[in-house]
Amino acid sequence: MSDIVPPPSNLFYQSRNRRPRLDRAEGVYMWDETGKRYLDGSSGAMVSNIGHSNPRVLAAMRAQMDRSTFGYRLHFENEPAEELARLVASLMPAGLDRVFFVSGGSEAVESAVKLARQWAVATGQASRWKVIARYPSYHGSTFGALALTGMALMTAPFSPMLREMPRIPAPTCYLDRDSLSMEERGLRYAGMLREEILRQGPETVLGFIMEPVGGASTGALVAPDSYYARIREICDEFGVLLIYDEVMSGAGRTGTFLAAEHWGIRPDIVALSKGFGAGYMPLGAMVADRRLVEPVLDAGGFVHGFTYAGNPLACAAGLAVIREVLDNDLMGNAARIGALLKSELTGLMARYPFIGDVRGKGLLLAFELVADRETMTPLPKAHDAYVRLVEHAYERGLIIYSRRTRGGREGDHFLVCPPMIATQAHVGE
Ligand code: PLP
Repeated sequence: MSDIVPPPSNLFYQSRNRRPRLDRAEGVYMWDETGKRYLDGSSGAMVSNIGHSNPRVLAAMRAQMDRSTFGYRLHFENEPAEELARLVASLMPAGLDRVFFVSGGSEAVESAVKLARQWAVATGQASRWKVIARYPSYHGSTFGALALTGMALMTAPFSPMLREMPRIPAPTCYLDRDSLSMEERGLRYAGMLREEILRQGPETVLGFIMEPVGGASTGALVAPDSYYARIREICDEFGVLLIYDEVMSGAGRTGTFLAAEHWGIRPDIVALSKGFGAGYMPLGAMVADRRLVEPVLDAGGFVHGFTYAGNPLACAAGLAVIREVLDNDLMGNAARIGALLKSELTGLMARYPFIGDVRGKGLLLAFELVADRETMTPLPKAHDAYVRLVEHAYERGLIIYSRRTRGGREGDHFLVCPPMIATQAHVGE
């Protein structure tokens, strides 16, 4: 990548920018300004679910632009927002049909927690305010979402400013070296939620938030089946709301619209973003059980909102994205191509002993680097390996996504999540 360092710029994000400059993108490919082509093997940050420059979405956006791009939600209703809310509700488990639009994943998570809290207050349960989360986990970068996020590197500088929430270990059953079966391990991890609720005092616990298929924090972690049902039972036992953060796993990426469907679980609130707007517009949604929303509206209204929420242009884009997913059976494709990609990645384990695990569902897949597969010891210099692997992939025209996990720095796992339009040929590539 060293030969394509862009000139110094006023921009900064995590660090000084040293990435090629994007020129254009189409389907699963992106081109930089030198004309070099990249296979978008991670859909950006698991965002571009239907690929780039989809003509139907672009046409819908152009048509909407000719009518209006913005109407403040407290001044006007708009048709794309109403229609998108209807469509989303039709794709949700029964009763989960109240939709609140936002512009991203952190906003969706914040909205979920604030709705939960206002529901508790409106229903005479004001002592409930703690939202138990998992470690590791990622729920967003704003302060509320960060208070739930279990990633020390993201939270540490802000700890004096944060009211951090209680956390239980994420169900990393694949790392355990005990005599239990996977299903027994799943129950053991779920049991930790019950213990934590009792430790905190059930009357103080408002909710439990989890990514049903992990994302950046755990690298597409999937728990044993037993975990999901038991977590739901425990929440019900104590009147604790179950919040599914499906910002990454939702909108079809795992092969079903919600990952929750794989286990037949009905969460009380769901956060969606990323593939929901699929990179065409910043868009997200908090979808809640009507039994939570109605008391809040009756008690005077949801004290929360973002200026750009539900704007007609973002909703028109989202509507076209979801229609594209449904009309072309892209969820079925994610399931089929995901299974193929997973088996190909698993096949690489025979050649590369440093691949310790391949996991995930649909096209939300990851592989983990280890020093020793038997003991699953993390790579001692995972970050160095990460830098080399990412550079090498860039040179070869492939984009993959890495995040911090066990070793605490970037590099332990790589997410492999091409757009849901990917074909067998792209998997081979
Ligand atoms: N929740 C999950 C599971 C995520 O993966 C992310 C982003 O990576 C977020 C929340 C935050 O989303 P955003 O970056 O759009 O605010």
